[in-house]
Amino acid sequence: MSAPIPQPGISEIALYQSGKSTFQGVENPLKLSANENPFGCSPRVAEAIAAELGSLHRYPGTDHQILREAIAKAHDLPADQVICGVGSDEILHLAAQAYAGPGGEVVYTEHGFSVYPIVARAAGAEPVVAPERDRVADADAILSACNEKTKIVFLANPNNPTGTMIGGNEVVRLADGLPEGCLLVLDGAYAEFVEGFDGGASLAATRDNVLMTRTFSKIYGLGGLRVGWGFGPREIIDTLTRIRGPFNLSNMQIAGAVAALEDVEFTEKSRAENSRNRALLARGLTALGIPSDPSFANFILARFAGAEEAEAAFNHLGHQGLIVRQVGGYGLPDCLRITIGTEENCRAVLAALEEFKSAR
Ligand code: PMP
Repeated sequence: MSAPIPQPGISEIALYQSGKSTFQGVENPLKLSANENPFGCSPRVAEAIAAELGSLHRYPGTDHQILREAIAKAHDLPADQVICGVGSDEILHLAAQAYAGPGGEVVYTEHGFSVYPIVARAAGAEPVVAPERDRVADADAILSACNEKTKIVFLANPNNPTGTMIGGNEVVRLADGLPEGCLLVLDGAYAEFVEGFDGGASLAATRDNVLMTRTFSKIYGLGGLRVGWGFGPREIIDTLTRIRGPFNLSNMQIAGAVAALEDVEFTEKSRAENSRNRALLARGLTALGIPSDPSFANFILARFAGAEEAEAAFNHLGHQGLIVRQVGGYGLPDCLRITIGTEENCRAVLAALEEFKSAR
């Protein structure tokens, strides 16, 4: 008997590296490495989940109707064009499985989210990187990276880990300029942090080649609950629904996400605090001579003089109990991605970096 052989491409997948939550020798550090909500989540979520505990023996519904309707109501979208998944990661996987495959290519940007090449290879397709301009996605470069083999383009707007964004006109130009039959996935994981931004919903509503993905992990503070969703043309949603696990979301996930959507006050507060504290952190970094690009998300990508300084700053912050994200794996070894915490958290980061800078 011989060992089973995985599909081609799977051994080339680089394992996903998540933000660290520990630092050697430091007890109870503050985790600012995974773009989590520093205010936790709405208290209504725990109540809604607790109410489901009596029905653990029951299968959840397969159509996620309650959640799809709550999403549709909150975002003013038709519920039958919404699909829910185990985090938006699952929707990204479903899109790749359904539309990319052996012989196909999947394009994403230079510092794009690291799950894109994973889902591409898992589907048997070849990931292709399009260059950015000064850490900002470039529609022309993405279009140049496409050819008749391109099946999907993934674009996070705002992007992780850069925090940068491209304008609506550029996204429209991209959607309309893609090769025939190529799907554009607009990843709006951080869309709620941008005042008045629909995450690409209006484009997904009017094009037959655009799917928008969203998550409950960021502004709703539910990274641990694992709920995400997608919105797009009926044909695409129908295709993805055929291949998703029929019981992918539990009753608790569904109830928790619905409760989070209903607590508009919590979401508004999270958005406002994020904007205020992000401005405070950005100003403080500038004053310390640490540049960063304008961020539209709940983190800032701080640039240091080089990889050595970024590593030293990471360790200095870690020893002070502040864990941020190293992004060498994203080709940004001179940068650290810092999640926007509370005002107190941001001030603690700035104080530690001031000490770091003055000691150098
Ligand atoms: N897209 C982007 C750009 C992200 O940063 C993340 C989370 N790191 C995700 C998608 C996936 O989030 P989740 O699976 O928790 O919904």
